[in-house]
Amino acid sequence: MIIAANFKTNLTRQKTAEYMAVLEAFLEKEGVTQEVMVFPPATALDRFDGRTQVGTQNAYPTRNGAFTGELGLEQLEEFGTDTILIGHSERRHVMGESQEEIARKFSFYKEKGFTIVYCIGEPLEVREAGNDALMDYLEAQLEGIDLHYKKLVIAYEPVWAIGTGLTPSLGDIELIHAALKQRVAKPLLYGGSVKVDNAREILALQHVDGILVGSGALAVEDFCRMIRDAETLHKGE
Ligand code: PEP
Repeated sequence: MIIAANFKTNLTRQKTAEYMAVLEAFLEKEGVTQEVMVFPPATALDRFDGRTQVGTQNAYPTRNGAFTGELGLEQLEEFGTDTILIGHSERRHVMGESQEEIARKFSFYKEKGFTIVYCIGEPLEVREAGNDALMDYLEAQLEGIDLHYKKLVIAYEPVWAIGTGLTPSLGDIELIHAALKQRVAKPLLYGGSVKVDNAREILALQHVDGILVGSGALAVEDFCRMIRDAETLHKGE
C-alpha cells in the first residue's frame, strides 16, 4: 500500500524537518514495509535521511527559465526530488489549471522519470448527476495522460470530500475504485477527509491501494497511526 501525506500550505521548513525525524524513527522502529510519501511545501523540500519518498506538490514543466513564482526541474534536482503531485483539485479548481496544462506538466515530468501521483475527482454537482456523469467527468481528467506510464499512481479524490470532513460511503468508494481500476491498471489511492478514525476501513476496501491524506496527516502521530493501519492490514491483522 501507499500512504501519502500532502501538507498543502502548512508546516514550515523547520516543522517539516521535525516531522520527518519522528516519521523516520517510527518507520524504522516498526519495520514498516508499506510505501510512504510526503509532499511538504516547496520551501521545506530537502534530502531527508530514511525511506520516505518526498515529493513536490507542484512544479512547472521546465528545467529553468522565466516563470516567476514557479519551480522547475533544476530546483527539484537540488534536493533529489523525483516525485510529484499533478492534477490536485486545488491546482485545478483554485489555481485554475486546465487539463491541457496538467497534461503538459505530466508529459514533462514523465519524460524526466518522476513518480507521478495523478489526482482526479469530481465536484458535488457531478456526483449528484449520477454514476455515468461521474465517470465521464473522471474520464475527461485522464485526457492527455499516459495511463501506461510505469511510475504512475492515481489518486481518486472527490472535490467535495477534500478538507470538508465529508467522504463518500465505503460502498461508493469501492464502486468507483472498481470502475477506475478497469480503466487504469495502476495503484489507486483514495483521498478526501481521510483521518485516523476512518483510515483503516477505507484501506481495507477492495481496489484501494492506499490513501492520500491532507489535514488528517498534519500531526505526525496521526500519520503514523494510519501507516500502522496499512501495515497491520497488509499482514492480515
Ligand atoms: C488532499 O489534499 O489531497 C486531501 C485529500 O485533503 P484532506 O485530507 O484534507 O481532505
